[in-house]
Amino acid sequence: MRKVSIFGATGSIGQNTIDLIDRDPDAYDVVALSGGRNIAQLADDAIRLKAEVAVTAHEDLFEDLRAALTGSSVEAAAGSNAIDDAASRPADWVMSAIVGAAGLKPGLCALEQGATLALANKESLVTAGALIMGTAQKHNARILPVDSEHSAVFQGLVGEDFSSVERIIITASGGAFRDWSLEDMARATPAQASSHPNWNMGQRITIDSASMFNKALELIETKEFFGCPHDMIEVLVHPESMIHALVGFKDGALMAHVGPPDMRHAIGYALHWPERRDLPVERLDLAKIGQMHFRAPDPKRYPALRLAHEVMEADGLSGAAFNASKEIALDGFLEGRIGFLDMAGVVEEVLTRLWGGACHINAEMTLDTVHETDHIARQTAETVIAERQ
Ligand code: NAD
Ligand code: MG
Repeated sequence: MRKVSIFGATGSIGQNTIDLIDRDPDAYDVVALSGGRNIAQLADDAIRLKAEVAVTAHEDLFEDLRAALTGSSVEAAAGSNAIDDAASRPADWVMSAIVGAAGLKPGLCALEQGATLALANKESLVTAGALIMGTAQKHNARILPVDSEHSAVFQGLVGEDFSSVERIIITASGGAFRDWSLEDMARATPAQASSHPNWNMGQRITIDSASMFNKALELIETKEFFGCPHDMIEVLVHPESMIHALVGFKDGALMAHVGPPDMRHAIGYALHWPERRDLPVERLDLAKIGQMHFRAPDPKRYPALRLAHEVMEADGLSGAAFNASKEIALDGFLEGRIGFLDMAGVVEEVLTRLWGGACHINAEMTLDTVHETDHIARQTAETVIAERQ
């Protein structure tokens, strides 16, 4: 039986992972599940899957979790240190599906104990790409991408020599506002930004899709995961979300990964790798679909993409500053303190101040320097938002 753990088990990716495990429960020995405030879901899944331990991120919810687990053999734990401890428990395969920078440390703990890390938490690679890839190498641990575009590129590279790759194209649906004018985008509300035309995802990543901050993070994620120069990576708007990525080779060939917009495909590929097994996803009928559309992203409506290229060029700790300021700008938008289009302006201003000397962006990357940069960027973003109000 394979020992598996799922961090961020109560979220969208976590629940899709559990859906796959539930279909073949005898094949898996569940070590740890982690969640946030949804204690009922966490306890329910942990009891059904006979997990060793269930951890909530919130220390104040420890008693609630313990009560919900009464009568079962599942241990209760709470707090971010407890999540790290659970990630250090021996497992063969660990799903990293916490949202945001909070996913970094548990991912590192899983790699340090040699587990294969199925990485949905793109923020880990954006904030600390060199650290996470270096830790995997040092402990001889494997990282498998779970973001659909990166899984698609990974699959497109099977059997290929990376030196024959000319370009990598990741697709973007264009999110909730792909056909909106700039004026309407400026007035958009969180509720409007929270509905995605194709994918069913957590709220934060759905809003990041509408602003293309999600695609900006994915550009950086591509550079860090595949170790390629930033100008090799392109974004293509493809409203149907059926082609997830294309790999362009030196001979002009483009290898496209085509599949329905269902995260269980990328999760299942990482779960069963290197095999392919039957997955409960729709089979596309291309004759019925008839046509697919493509266009270049409009740089005026999606400044996050330009910022991502600047961050990749600056390298070092810039990714940590980018991600942290983006998280605070998103909070600011959700709280009604700034408008939808102001998010990119806030992030750009933070980067300008940090690159201008407020932070040692070129210091050696360690967990401490990443945390310090994250902290300074968050504070600077709060200041920038307050100045705009
Ligand atoms: P979600 O909001 O649905 O779930 C997030 C999970 O993380 C929940 O279990 C929540 O309790 C937990 N969590 C939140 N804050 C935490 C904290 N501070 N400490 C510990 N746990 C915390 O998010 P999601 O859509 O499932 O996304 C998870 C990750 O996967 C993100 O990094 C996202 O970018 C990435 N991803 C998601 C999708 C998708 O389709 N949803 C696709 C590609 C990549
Ligand atoms: Mg993606």
